[in-house]
Amino acid sequence: MYNLTDPSEIRRIMVKYDKNFKKSLGQNFLTDEEVLNDIVCCADIKKDDFVLEIGPGIGVLTRKLAETGANVKAVEIDSSLMPILNETLSGFDNVQIINADFMKTDVFDLFGNTNKKIKVAANLPYYITTPILMRLLENKNIISSITIMVQKEVAERLTAKNGGKDYGAVTLAVSYRAKAEITRIVPSSCFMPPPKVDSAVVHLKILDEPAVKVSDEKMLFRLIKGGFALRRKTLQNSLFAGAGIPKEQTLEALNALGFSPKIRGEALSLEDYANLTEFFEKNF
Ligand code: SAM
Repeated sequence: MYNLTDPSEIRRIMVKYDKNFKKSLGQNFLTDEEVLNDIVCCADIKKDDFVLEIGPGIGVLTRKLAETGANVKAVEIDSSLMPILNETLSGFDNVQIINADFMKTDVFDLFGNTNKKIKVAANLPYYITTPILMRLLENKNIISSITIMVQKEVAERLTAKNGGKDYGAVTLAVSYRAKAEITRIVPSSCFMPPPKVDSAVVHLKILDEPAVKVSDEKMLFRLIKGGFALRRKTLQNSLFAGAGIPKEQTLEALNALGFSPKIRGEALSLEDYANLTEFFEKNF
């Protein structure tokens, strides 16, 4: 049985299969047993759960997930890892590896008609963290939680509070659909090869209902994206540049909602964006 957290073992496997780490695919493999156990524990994986992993790499986290007895599906883009995964995961009949780009994979199709919600656990490729997370959040109705390793600075953005430097459109997109918390900071020395920055594990519990009610979700996201398009400018300028909304309309909305005409997008909370959405829906 392989010890997949042992760097010399990883090297041996890579040589055996004539494989190199692909930097372009974010291949930084986890080598810390405690962090792996923490991810599985924090994701609260139980026997009979349905688990989705994105980017199994050589299978170090996949094996931990499989050992719980859960039904695991792991989507890996790199076909040169397939023979390695066949070997490192042999003996587990509760794991299915899908060789595909997650960004082109339909999560619903993967799991078919299960009436149990899916738990996601992954050490994400950092070059594509936000698009993957947004794709997962679009599937909020079939996912109950997402436990992911991301760059520390991304983790700070996902969990930021109003107004700070980390607070942005992604913070609001996440808080609309989930409750996010950083559960652990992970130094770069826990990976092979070590990335340039530290990482963090973030646990997102998907909310049963969105955090705010709006009549048009698309408009809410248009305003959020537009509101952060020009961070250093007023909301009026930012919404004009980022969402094509006439400045007079934003001014009217700000007056009606009791905000200064000079307010910036980063000063508004999710509730404020929801109120703006309703004002625009009713008045323009
Ligand atoms: N899970 C392993 C671990 O913890 O050691 C590997 C994690 S590594 C940070 C990210 C993995 O995601 C790599 O194996 C990479 O090939 C894979 N990957 C990158 N882009 C992907 C995509 N679009 N769809 C699926 N997998 C992807």
